[in-house]
Amino acid sequence: MMNLEQLLQDIDGGKRVTREEGLYLLRNSELLELGGVANEIRFRKNPSQSVTFVVDTNPNYTNICNVDCIFCAFYRHPGEEGEYTYSVDHMIQKFKEAAAKGVTTVLLQGGVNPALPFDYYVDLVRRTRNEVPEVYPHFFSTSEIIGMSAVSRMDVSEVLQCLWDAGLRSIPGGGAEILSDRVKKKISGKKGTSADWLRVMRQAHRIGYKTTATMMYGHIESDEDIVEHLESIRQVQDETGGFTAFIPWSFKPGNTPLEKVIPHYATPTRYLQMIALARLYLDNVQHIQASWFSEGKKTGQIALHFGADDFGGTLLEENVHAAANFVNKTNTEECVQLIHESGFDAIQRTTLYEHLRVYKRMEVAA
Ligand code: SF4
Repeated sequence: MMNLEQLLQDIDGGKRVTREEGLYLLRNSELLELGGVANEIRFRKNPSQSVTFVVDTNPNYTNICNVDCIFCAFYRHPGEEGEYTYSVDHMIQKFKEAAAKGVTTVLLQGGVNPALPFDYYVDLVRRTRNEVPEVYPHFFSTSEIIGMSAVSRMDVSEVLQCLWDAGLRSIPGGGAEILSDRVKKKISGKKGTSADWLRVMRQAHRIGYKTTATMMYGHIESDEDIVEHLESIRQVQDETGGFTAFIPWSFKPGNTPLEKVIPHYATPTRYLQMIALARLYLDNVQHIQASWFSEGKKTGQIALHFGADDFGGTLLEENVHAAANFVNKTNTEECVQLIHESGFDAIQRTTLYEHLRVYKRMEVAA
């Protein structure tokens, strides 16, 4: 039997959490105790009384996909009503419009569309760098990169190298969901294994890419799966150091096949637990991202006191959660205000967490 108080003290003192301890914390610790230690460690890693955010947008170049994840409401099959694929010209125009609104990061993902040639992706990256230098491309999930490998008949590392040569430097961590093959087989059987996701990330990091790591929980996973997921991320980070941040979000059931089995959202309490546990477990990841978008603004604000030091992006455009009837909007001003209300200075950052602009809290007169 573990002594919870002693364990939290040991973690606070720098002890690395084991799998067994992670599971024990998830099942036995009081949320406020867990959050309290996570918050202390957050300030040790990121000492300033500030929270970062990025001005970004999250468009999609195609919704055609052959992977059929049962948690996804976004994709369409070829010929199905509502399917689309945008040309490179169209996307460049969109990026220019976003840049004119102050966007500095474009997080771009699609479905996995086997009709698109590899040249499309290379062209998209190269033209973005050349024609819209104001925005930083944060493009393509592991699933799309594996899809590019199939289309081009090159191996994943060659695909990554070609995208690097075209100017890509940063890749989003989407497609991880839960890194447990027991879960993956059921919710995204055609997507590849946990090892596939981890392999793409390792290869990307070796080339020099920075990526994020994500987790979508709140469906059919167990506590053990959550801990397994964190353990896998931590191991890769020990090897490569390539993850800039960890970003958890909860499953949104609307309009998905999985809705019949899991019709409800995970609770805010569970979200705060995920944020705090991630901060404790991922002792080698600098930034933990709270999401005003996926969990609601109030929950996002509270998460800033449970171990998170980043507030994500402004998300000018978002279509994936919207397809599941989950819509939340903000803008730079509100993002800054939400961070200020939470007791922090707000710092606008780049994709790679360099600081661009500080928005100081107004001192409230006594
Ligand atoms: S989550 Fe991505 S890979 Fe899976 S079906 Fe949706 S678009 Fe395709």
